[in-house]
Amino acid sequence: MDGAAFTTLERANAQDVDRAVAAARRAFDDGRWSRAAPAERKRVLHRIADIIEERALELTVLGVRDNGTEFNMALKAEAGSAAGTFRYYAEAVDKIYGEVAPTAEDVLGLVHREPVGVVGAIVPWNFPLMIGAWKLAPALATGNSVVLKPAETASLSLLKLAEYCMEAGLPDGVLNVVTGQGSVAGEALALSMDVDVLVFTGSGATGRRLLEYSARSNLKRVYLELGGKSPNVVFADAPDLEKAAAVSAMGIFRNSGQVCVAGSRLLVERSIHDDFVAALSRHAGALRVGDPLDLGSQVGAINSLDQLEGNLGFVADATAQGAEIALGGGRILESTGGYYMEPTVLTGVAPDNRVFREEVFGPVLAVTAFDGDEEAIALANATDYGLAAGVWTGNLGRAHRMVRGIRAGIVHVNTYGGSDNTVPLGGVKQSGNGHDKSLHAIDKYLDLKTAWIQL
Ligand code: ADP
Repeated sequence: MDGAAFTTLERANAQDVDRAVAAARRAFDDGRWSRAAPAERKRVLHRIADIIEERALELTVLGVRDNGTEFNMALKAEAGSAAGTFRYYAEAVDKIYGEVAPTAEDVLGLVHREPVGVVGAIVPWNFPLMIGAWKLAPALATGNSVVLKPAETASLSLLKLAEYCMEAGLPDGVLNVVTGQGSVAGEALALSMDVDVLVFTGSGATGRRLLEYSARSNLKRVYLELGGKSPNVVFADAPDLEKAAAVSAMGIFRNSGQVCVAGSRLLVERSIHDDFVAALSRHAGALRVGDPLDLGSQVGAINSLDQLEGNLGFVADATAQGAEIALGGGRILESTGGYYMEPTVLTGVAPDNRVFREEVFGPVLAVTAFDGDEEAIALANATDYGLAAGVWTGNLGRAHRMVRGIRAGIVHVNTYGGSDNTVPLGGVKQSGNGHDKSLHAIDKYLDLKTAWIQL
């Protein structure tokens, strides 16, 4: 929130990581969890969810002090969401079946689904509990051991979650948390010869490194969720433009834009451009940005000074390249004394502007006008990313054409954000591969093994 230290953390080195991986491997091999009855694993996962719910307040305050997310949102999106995710996968544990293959009469072909072994999970600072749970719950549900590396600036709530897991009855060694720097602890985990699968959410630059580490070590499978530059497309025929403006404002400015699926590019049909930008700016300008532990705040802090300076750099570059500032643009320093930034709306952003193409991960919205469906789809897809998108229209055919035309892992229609555990989240193009959430997430943590039996 303001850079003042309130705790210290262990900075794990490569030997510490190796010890954690060895503990995970021992736990996996002796079957204390990997061969526990599914009903037992289910019971423990439900108990973890119970404890998260009972201590949601404590967990949320700890997390908010660590990463600066506004409290009300963190309570729901962090503790609330993590508990729900543990419950979802607890319920799935004893509903995962193998297969009997349709072979010739004299053979029995069985397809077993087995846990992969040791899973390495590297997670970011924006929603550590929510994203941590997206990886941990399905990995543990399927019987794997895990070594988790939280982000440097958001480790505390995940350390606390690990305590809860032990209290709930997860056996020793099954979940191991190593804190420290990405370039040291994260790198060691990704280079380990004994990690079978690596799951990651974070930046594209780190994602590329992880693929290299895999190639240089044991060819571990690597699943990446790498953020986006998500288009939010508003047509003049949207059913309720005022609601579209309010929801679109939250679609980019909640958590100060530090959201991988943030709708950071607003594409507006030219005929409504000025009115819509004015309405959205009115909603965004009314948001109370401030101390994340103040219950009146609607938007909290920027995670770090580096991040804040990067955001301001995007604004400076955008205006130098011809964009105009319709709202905000600066740091909020006097009233806060910390790392806070005004919700910022930039208009006239051309597709070659850096702010149109690169992820800011801050409260900066790039606005571009369009004419007609074809231009909307072309602009929406004019990015290396493909994580999320939004479309606002009252025309059912157009809505479906846009869903088909936009390359993204999720397309919201007449809303932005707010999906639940029943649907997958994952990117296409350079937003990554593999999915979190839903039953599809489970596939990453299971290997297929065939038994071919001559009868
Ligand atoms: P962000 O921009 O969201 O901070 P990063 O990719 O830098 O994204 O960080 C996401 C996670 O990746 C953090 O836990 C961080 O410590 C970790 N990380 C950063 N660099 C590396 C690296 N070279 N190897 C492994 N993990 C890393």
